[in-house]
Amino acid sequence: MCGICGYVGGGNGVKEVVQGLKILEYRGYDSCGVAYLDNKKIDIIKTIGDVDNLKKLTENLSANVVIGHTRWATHGSVNEKNAHPHLSTSKNLAMVHNGIIENYKELKEEFKLNCISDTDSEVFLNLIDSEKGTLIDKVIKASKKVQGTFAVLVLGSDGEMVLGKRESPLYLSNVEDEVYIASDVLALKGENYFALNDDEFASVKNGKIIFYNKNGEKITKKCEKIEKNSDFSEIFYKTHMESEIFETKNVLLKTLKKYTEENIFQNIKLPKKLNSISLIACGTAYHASLMGAEFFKKVGVDARAYLASEFRYGNEILKDDTLYIFVSQSGETADTIASAKMVKERNLPMLALTNMENCLLNRICENVLPTFAGREIAVASTKAYTCQVFSLYLFSLYLANIPLPKEEIFDDFPYVTFSEELVKQIAKFKKVFFIGRNLDYVTAMEASLKLKEISYINCFAIASGELKHGTLALIDEDAVVIAICTQENIKTKLLSNLEEIKARGGEIVVVSQFDDFSDYPCVKLPETQTELMPIVSVIPMQFLALHICELFGYNPDKPRNLAKSVTVE
Ligand code: GLU
Repeated sequence: MCGICGYVGGGNGVKEVVQGLKILEYRGYDSCGVAYLDNKKIDIIKTIGDVDNLKKLTENLSANVVIGHTRWATHGSVNEKNAHPHLSTSKNLAMVHNGIIENYKELKEEFKLNCISDTDSEVFLNLIDSEKGTLIDKVIKASKKVQGTFAVLVLGSDGEMVLGKRESPLYLSNVEDEVYIASDVLALKGENYFALNDDEFASVKNGKIIFYNKNGEKITKKCEKIEKNSDFSEIFYKTHMESEIFETKNVLLKTLKKYTEENIFQNIKLPKKLNSISLIACGTAYHASLMGAEFFKKVGVDARAYLASEFRYGNEILKDDTLYIFVSQSGETADTIASAKMVKERNLPMLALTNMENCLLNRICENVLPTFAGREIAVASTKAYTCQVFSLYLFSLYLANIPLPKEEIFDDFPYVTFSEELVKQIAKFKKVFFIGRNLDYVTAMEASLKLKEISYINCFAIASGELKHGTLALIDEDAVVIAICTQENIKTKLLSNLEEIKARGGEIVVVSQFDDFSDYPCVKLPETQTELMPIVSVIPMQFLALHICELFGYNPDKPRNLAKSVTVE
């Protein structure tokens, strides 16, 4: 999930790479580093923490051949020794790696590789170093022995760079005699880029790029146009997360406009006979999928959402009258990609719902429904989630031949939030529960995920009707229950649930547009179009997580243990 950057050319590569790493920082940020060539000798600078630390350490450096990395540790704790780049035992090679080498222990033993760090990556590097031949031969040979996923960029002490990938993205661009390499197109310079496919490799020497397949044969590759998102989130507020929540209305409006004006739905290939829809995703995108499944069922199409990490190892019966929708903001989520590959192998109807034009999931599925949330930097997804929910809603209307809503539905779009006093009160509780039914239960799940990922409070979501089947045992004066109610038909049911909670000493806060909950502290939602309620009601929950996080003094944009695009299993 880390960021990889590389530069070969006549300019100051250290500055270029550090700049690139700053852009990629959202992918991983526990430690970072650069390796550069200094008189045929490889020097390395690494540091714990974010790219600003690295920037300070490298301020006075200049080099023409540089590789860099921001890490999101999978193997070995966060310290300088485990940070990338790693230097090979012979000191002739340095390498940055994104992914996981699953058989690193076996390889280390079999080939008697000496490593300084605890990482799987250094084993791969020393395996490469132990192979015979040119640098490209060595990398290709070693890659045949490794199991798992990788994007690697290797720097040789003669100034050659070799890169290769398997199930983790890696791109290059060429501007005159400068070559840029990055794990996200966003960090490249120039107009065009090359995307490496799995088990493809490239060597970069003296400003020239040569591509190879896994047999070491030279191949030609077509370049693609870099479409940089002009609506890259600008920080108008204190944090990216806050800015991104306040972009919700604009990005939903943009999505609606695009879908209406560009006939996007008409271009989607559907199965000849559509009997059901399966949505497959992880994390927040899974919650959007659960919401989507409800929308599809409402228009009479059988639908179900799956966690990608479960789907890929489960016993699902795959059918050709099912449309498989893979939902991922980045389009690089490892478990979702693996599930998509499984469905692709069976040649079944599939669709990618992603927010990134140049992503792997789009290439696998070919059939794409884009969201137009713009670049999301904060790790906790907000506007991308609401866009996914809205896109799936619009798609359900299209399938049912119902006209799409008019732009006016956003005229008075409300950004509701919890009062400062309520935020402070909720933050005092050791246990936080979110409850709701149907659509509101999905919002409760998303609210709970948001709160735990950035405030580290122990919280979870439960369907209101399930409370009495076990969870009520946890309700006491240390618990606060946040109940969401946006649907008329379940109001009275919820009122009884709240009585049960009150009877056990639990504190209650209600989020609703209805007046029936005046006995409790209430975050009042506006009466708006019912179809917008899952969006209108999740916004206060996003703000709640943000404000509790800030109250505790944490940075909401960079929560611990998480990264934006989860490219490891
Ligand atoms: N597995 C490697 C490590 O733990 C790379 C992790 C990453 O993708 O950032 O160092």
